[in-house]
Amino acid sequence: MAVFARAPGLPRVAWARGVEVVDTDGRRYLDASGGAVVVGVGHGVEEVVEAAAAQARRVAYVHGTAFGSDVLEEYAAELAPLLPLDDPAVYPVSGGSEAVETALKMARAYHLARGEDRWVVVGREHSYHGNSRGALDVSGRAALRAPYLPWLGPAVHTSTPQEYRCGFDTHPHGCGLRHAERLEQTIADAGPERVAAFVAEPVAGAGLAACVPPEDYWPAVVEVCRRHGVLVVADEVMTGFGRTGRWFASEHFGMRPDLLTAGKGAASGYWPLGLAVASGEVHETIGDGGLVHGFTYSHHAVGAATGLAVLRRLRDHGLVGAAEERGAQLAGLLRERLGDHPWVGDVRGAGLLVGVELVEDRGSRTPFPRSRRVTEQLLAAAKELGLLLYPAAGCADGSRGDAVLLGPPLVISAAEVEQVVERLVAALDVLADRLRA
Ligand code: PLP
Repeated sequence: MAVFARAPGLPRVAWARGVEVVDTDGRRYLDASGGAVVVGVGHGVEEVVEAAAAQARRVAYVHGTAFGSDVLEEYAAELAPLLPLDDPAVYPVSGGSEAVETALKMARAYHLARGEDRWVVVGREHSYHGNSRGALDVSGRAALRAPYLPWLGPAVHTSTPQEYRCGFDTHPHGCGLRHAERLEQTIADAGPERVAAFVAEPVAGAGLAACVPPEDYWPAVVEVCRRHGVLVVADEVMTGFGRTGRWFASEHFGMRPDLLTAGKGAASGYWPLGLAVASGEVHETIGDGGLVHGFTYSHHAVGAATGLAVLRRLRDHGLVGAAEERGAQLAGLLRERLGDHPWVGDVRGAGLLVGVELVEDRGSRTPFPRSRRVTEQLLAAAKELGLLLYPAAGCADGSRGDAVLLGPPLVISAAEVEQVVERLVAALDVLADRLRA
């Protein structure tokens, strides 16, 4: 039987260790994207594999409505103090999209429990929150939504800050307040008594290639949400578990969301783990058993054991601090080497989530025509040179733009960071030859 492959002509992976992936032809790649910005603790970490295997040997699966498990309680207890929510309660699932779906249902359940019939969710333009229907509905990326529009529901979208292409005139306090005004207008248009939640990434990942909002953005946006009884959902699927140099990116802004979603780095790719986390108030209002929801694989003990081993590895090896340090080195070197490059418009990000936006004309910040497939060509050139990057959308203005994300394992060494930059510079040279050909 054929495999419904996600892309044609792929090399086959053989094994991986640390920051390196090797294919069955013996070609070696530096994994500068951690897969899909997933692998935090590095590839091939024996103690994580062993923790998963040991749990599977004890018991691999029972249904989450029949048994709880010690390992899940232990994981929740060790995770709780690291989360930016008060008295958090965790609902473990199998990935980021499921986490977002779960958080959306929690928001609805919270309002219903309070006697309020709220169902509209506000997402942001250019955002990505997953490919299942609810998560895609909240997402703002038009190209991903287009084929499925008849299935998509009641979400509405508001503006998102992007320093490189700020749509607002200069404002005495930065543009964050303007976006908060926009959000308030979006809520007003939808009918404030109907709006259940606002969903956004603290630092925008794939949709905008690691755009960090201005300092005044999150406090202003949270204030608007609180005033209208709208729950704040921080989607930390990409930014969580140390990626941005903090355990969770909400911390950069002193943000305390009502709900938080995580995935990717939670189990570092060793298990498909996602988490929907509710604040104590949301959890208590809904009540245990008050959520009409559930998946076959939610509350999975092997997922909890894997997540716990990953969390301990991040903590005990100081990998969150390492992400901040190596991230500063990576962004610094990229700016140094590519700051004058005619096609590199912007280098941005936080910790080891770094975006490089490519433009046809730096002065006017004009994107390449999408038909030239610049991101795809750069990814291919980099791969030929043994460097794995992640595609990201770069800019607004109705055009998807071109950008790549770098999100290597947090264990990357200073020397490996230098190699990543060398190979990216070389890949841009190859791209230049191809575009001129
Ligand atoms: N939310 C964000 C911010 C993401 O970046 C992603 C995936 O890229 C998702 C949700 C969906 O996660 P998954 O692909 O694990 O379903």
